[in-house]
Amino acid sequence: MPIEKRVVIKIGSSSLTSRHGEISKIKLEKLANEIAKLKDAGHEVVLVSSGAVAAGYRKLGCLKRPVSLPEKQAAASIGQGLLIESYSHLFLSHGYVASQILILRSDFLDESRYQNVHNTLNVLLERGIIPIVNENDTLSTERLNFGDNDTLAAKVAGLVDADQLVILSDIDGLYDKNPTIHEDATLINHVSEITNEIENAAGGSGSAVGTGGMKSKIEAVKIAMASGISTFLGNANKEDIIVDAVEKKATGTYFTCEKTVTTLNQKKKWIAFHSGSKGEIIINPHAADRMVKKRKSLRLKEIHLVKGKFEKGAVVRVMDMEGEEIARGVVKVSSSGLNQMLQDKTDQVMDSTVIIEMGDFVCHIDAPISIGV
Ligand code: ADP
Repeated sequence: MPIEKRVVIKIGSSSLTSRHGEISKIKLEKLANEIAKLKDAGHEVVLVSSGAVAAGYRKLGCLKRPVSLPEKQAAASIGQGLLIESYSHLFLSHGYVASQILILRSDFLDESRYQNVHNTLNVLLERGIIPIVNENDTLSTERLNFGDNDTLAAKVAGLVDADQLVILSDIDGLYDKNPTIHEDATLINHVSEITNEIENAAGGSGSAVGTGGMKSKIEAVKIAMASGISTFLGNANKEDIIVDAVEKKATGTYFTCEKTVTTLNQKKKWIAFHSGSKGEIIINPHAADRMVKKRKSLRLKEIHLVKGKFEKGAVVRVMDMEGEEIARGVVKVSSSGLNQMLQDKTDQVMDSTVIIEMGDFVCHIDAPISIGV
């Protein structure tokens, strides 16, 4: 059967739990049934699922969902296994094997770990497995449930070159204002660009409406859009929402990318969207032209100034003299080495030393490099 689409589905804890905050068997079953239907139709699926704390807090001895970070992490360490056990069982009943991948946000910052996750996910998808991804809550030093996995799902979608990201929530989609407060809020069916209006509707800066929840979904949409991936946002409780979302007939919000994003190879994608940047190199106008228009390597003699501290192999922001970021690339020399060479100004070294190799940078016109880091 031909592969139809590669779909990343993100489901939030609120869509997996009962009123009391525990995992709801009925909701989990509905999700697994619908994912199985998508698999039956020939699509590849990665599931990004929250719910580890909800699945584990009672066994930790807590009567309600804990609030302190150590207790949440302890609950997650019990619940993650239980959650995966339930998913595995449900998917197996449909004839599909599930796998677990726990990711830390910092895994995306390291190129070899990023490549490893990419390779692992590809093998699993090619073999028809359903990878279930979650943040490694027990190890994460960041705030637990940061963005409730929305941005993690968008990054995973970019990592596996997904055709579509489906974010399921407890609401029908993006409204022009928070529908839980405003009765006259209207559902927005289609968004092709994230404008200030959209950010404000979702509770962006300067707005009194909305919660972090919708805001983090819009952040996720932006990350997906930067990689050329369309996103659907809809209500997890609706019947057949997943299949309908992929077949473009669901009620909800479709975020589509009209601009064709240049296809970047894995290394360049990592540089553009995941690497994080350690410092800045300010270059002269001639070099800026060579880098952006001709994609030529950056040489030592073209550097005007080095800002910040970074090691050899780090990704730095390449700035023009006006302070605009024009590219991001991997440096062959550390900041201290660079400063020393710039101070010595040895003619031969200045002329012959390449600081960022041709294939090791991404220009702003290839990708919106500031997104997702
Ligand atoms: P999940 O747990 O599924 O990730 P969240 O609770 O984090 O979902 O976010 C969804 C919530 O965002 C909605 O239930 C709603 O209360 C709130 N919200 C705020 N602004 C909007 C908006 N403009 N459109 C839709 N929902 C919004």
